[in-house]
Amino acid sequence: MAEKPAACQLCSSLDLVDMFLIDQIQLKRCRHCGLVFVFPLPADEELRTGYQQKYFQSGDPLHWGYENYLAMDGENRQTAERRLGILTGFLRGGSLLEVGCATGLFMQAAQAKGFAAKGVEISDFAAAHGRENYKLDIFTGILRDARFADASFDAVAMWDVLEHVPAPLRDLEEVARVLKSGGYLFLTVPNINSFWARIMGKNWFGFTKIREHLFYYNRRTITQALSQSGFNVVRIKSSPFLVTLKFLSDKMGRYSRLLSGWSGKVLKVCRLENKKVNFQYIDMLVVARKR
Ligand SMILES: [Zn+2]
Repeated sequence: MAEKPAACQLCSSLDLVDMFLIDQIQLKRCRHCGLVFVFPLPADEELRTGYQQKYFQSGDPLHWGYENYLAMDGENRQTAERRLGILTGFLRGGSLLEVGCATGLFMQAAQAKGFAAKGVEISDFAAAHGRENYKLDIFTGILRDARFADASFDAVAMWDVLEHVPAPLRDLEEVARVLKSGGYLFLTVPNINSFWARIMGKNWFGFTKIREHLFYYNRRTITQALSQSGFNVVRIKSSPFLVTLKFLSDKMGRYSRLLSGWSGKVLKVCRLENKKVNFQYIDMLVVARKR
């Protein structure tokens, strides 16, 4: 763990309060702006190693990554199509950068609709999969290291990324730099002010990924983060994510292994394991425009 001064990255306030201790990880909340974050943040190197193959084929998916990301191809492609539908509501093509593109399913969908897509992905396992299997232009590493020229893109997508990165404001400023003036940023993040988060408190399923999810936003803090980085928010709404019933049943193991085991058996007997459902009230979708 890297020792850094305990100040809010969004508003620089030192007025932080301990919120929850989950899996020996401290969550702090800024009393000034409401940003919630893990403290201390893990070191960059720890994050870089954490997002290799074991993230996508995890032996411990209750705490880290996916049991088998590649096997979720069907629902991930459907999610990519739904997200692309949001993009095409704002622009009809052009140059697109996806930050945190994983294996590149969204890039593929975008290319099929006429976008010229590039991707950045910290995991070489996922990036190489996209390059080798789908012939995509994916840079392995973090956004700053890709050194794109100023104003290179008409649009940037960051699906489920900003909760994972240790310096979100710095990343948003880099996104603003590589976007053209008036260019669009599309992103999703968990909403810590969402219905279930307020009801469940410390037990909110949004916290089950506390080793990966370092920052927790609400509508106000994500708007402030974007505003400070040179964006105007043009849309915020809650965003469903598509998963199989087996995925949800497995995640239930976090609360009760017994219940998870039984629901898993019932789903198997009823052949409902692969039934896909839209899971609501965790994520929010944000569309912002570079000023
Ligand atoms: Zn703050």
